[in-house]
Amino acid sequence: MKQHFCWKCRTVMPFLEENEWEQVSPLLEGAKKAIQEYREENNCSLQTAREFCKPEAMLKFEELTGKPNVHFEIICHHRLKNWGQECPECGHLLRTPKAKYCAKCGWIIS
Ligand SMILES: [Zn+2]
Ligand SMILES: [Zn+2]
Repeated sequence: MKQHFCWKCRTVMPFLEENEWEQVSPLLEGAKKAIQEYREENNCSLQTAREFCKPEAMLKFEELTGKPNVHFEIICHHRLKNWGQECPECGHLLRTPKAKYCAKCGWIIS
């Protein structure tokens, strides 16, 4: 796990390294289903279910990163591999593995 500024969340968030992603990603598929089942069992709105239901993927993410209540749809984009390397100048992720420069400080890969 590494902490980085997330370009989508607009704040510093934990990102999963591959060995961690492998533990979380199989659970993500079941997360939607867990929310659906929670709704049916409790006869509540999607909003309520999203607030109270904690699918396994979210618990696993919390266990790995120490950050609770990160929604599984957010977890989906917190795979470190998808964000390219770390900028040696400012420490931000380059945003994509194909990026040629840092969107934060303008550092260019030579
Ligand atoms: Zn994010
Ligand atoms: Zn930079």
